[in-house]
Amino acid sequence: MSKTLDLNQRPTSITLKDTTGVACDECSNTTFSEAMIMRKVSRLLTGAPKDSYVPVPVFLCSACGHLNDEFLPAELKAASEPSLIAKA
Ligand SMILES: [Zn+2]
Repeated sequence: MSKTLDLNQRPTSITLKDTTGVACDECSNTTFSEAMIMRKVSRLLTGAPKDSYVPVPVFLCSACGHLNDEFLPAELKAASEPSLIAKA
């Protein structure tokens, strides 16, 4: 059982003192609640009889409901969603 220690990875002894706060980009609130982004997978891709759904957990500001961009998986950030940012 050899556990290699990647130099780019922090040791596991991180405490809260090593962390920095995160605030809502819209209202600076600092509490968040979990929500799910649902992604639909076409049945044409899976070969299943129906489309399927993949939940992606994200965190929403508990005050205004805003979803900070930093909480989005890289694949779902606006820049990679041409259909969402396409200007007419
Ligand atoms: Zn907010």
